[in-house]
Amino acid sequence: MRQVQGKHIVVIGAARSGVAAACLLQRKGARVFVTDNNTINEHFKCRLDKHNIAFEENGHTNKARGADFAVLSPGVPTEAPLAQEYLKAGKDIFSEMEVASWYNHSPLVAVTGSNGKTTVTSWLAHTWKTANKDYVLAGNIGYAFSDRVEDTTAQSNTILEVSSFQLDHISTFRPHISLLLNITADHMDRYQHRFERYAEAKYRITKNQKAEDWFIYNNDDPAIQQHVESLKKKEDAPRLLAFSNTAEISEGAFIRDRNIILRINDEEHVLMPIEEVSLSGSHNLNNGLATALAARAAEITNEIIRESLRTFEGVEHRLEHVRTVDGVKYINDSKATNINAVWYAMDSFNVPMVLILGGRDKGNDYTGLIDQIRSKVHTIVAIGEARPVIEEQLKATVPQFETANTLAEAVRLARKYAKRGEVVLLSPACASFDMFESYEHRGNEFKKVVNAL
Ligand code: ADP
Repeated sequence: MRQVQGKHIVVIGAARSGVAAACLLQRKGARVFVTDNNTINEHFKCRLDKHNIAFEENGHTNKARGADFAVLSPGVPTEAPLAQEYLKAGKDIFSEMEVASWYNHSPLVAVTGSNGKTTVTSWLAHTWKTANKDYVLAGNIGYAFSDRVEDTTAQSNTILEVSSFQLDHISTFRPHISLLLNITADHMDRYQHRFERYAEAKYRITKNQKAEDWFIYNNDDPAIQQHVESLKKKEDAPRLLAFSNTAEISEGAFIRDRNIILRINDEEHVLMPIEEVSLSGSHNLNNGLATALAARAAEITNEIIRESLRTFEGVEHRLEHVRTVDGVKYINDSKATNINAVWYAMDSFNVPMVLILGGRDKGNDYTGLIDQIRSKVHTIVAIGEARPVIEEQLKATVPQFETANTLAEAVRLARKYAKRGEVVLLSPACASFDMFESYEHRGNEFKKVVNAL
């Protein structure tokens, strides 16, 4: 454990994780100062005040300089000038998750990937619950690890959702079981638009793992396969378990004759028919396979895993069925903030649909959706700032293309075009901040409008 008693530590970025790290470090005897180049949310200011932690907002003064090391909130890019000052001075920068892990007592189960992290993290929690095994749930999922780490014990697991930003600045963070679900372009603005840099951050989840640990990965993802090849050459590499829904796997999980097969230590077991998995869509089958393998690595029985895969209800705003009106299913997939997630959302339905797309564009290439759109979407309703780009790239691929100024108008238009037996899918491929506070706000608005139809 790193000694922080009496150390001067600056936390850069005062949102949920940064503030939680500041409080933890203060409890451990450090002299903490928090700095933010924006206005700090009132709620977080209150928390800092309550703990007597000094802070500044709307810019950095000299008080933010010269600390022994800095802690970077996941929302702050490494390129931020203050972070760069620390690095240039030869000082360390750690992520909030790294800092929290210094005080951890439990074997960590850490989930990363471009899409599916929250789903799998929640599915793991559901599995642990089904098995009556104690766990602490933390990370990107909404509870900072720093706030929960003092509840960890050697007898329970901590199940963590880990973003690439948290992995950017780890040093000793070591999951006992790590899961890498997929790597597809996202957050390119934070990685100099270089896919390799973003992928490297994700691979870092295995950096400190040893032979007694486990690495669970998506065998169908070519970028991950490359990493696995180099990992295999490493002495003391973690044990590898792969999942695939396209090929048979020598150690891991795969599909044969529409059954999920687990093959571990050369022993093969038929787990269950894929039709029994509670969530639909091939991406959710992958998520279920990943969950099953992590559970096996934690010595949970096949029987419990089967029950968990049958009973998990999914997570709000991820392909969430809101309501069926006049025979049309309305699906809230507000969390789909990149192209890959939308691709899988469409792939999950085999009926004609109306797609509501748009919001704040993140430099998306919507043409990656054309094959799916041609095969099942008859109407696109575009919303938000991305409307012109979507129109330019997709209008010609659909019989009807509409734009709407509000989500309520988009739903009304969708209703006009959707026929009995079809689906209206909100799966925006964009951030929500042009019209909403968050993807949750966008999803809740959608549900409100749909529930009022
Ligand atoms: P994350 O926490 O990584 O953002 P979520 O579980 O919140 O992932 O899901 C985000 C979006 O991606 C949702 O629209 C969901 O339906 C979709 N999704 C979930 N799992 C996968 C997967 N394995 N591959 C692709 N898309 C996925």
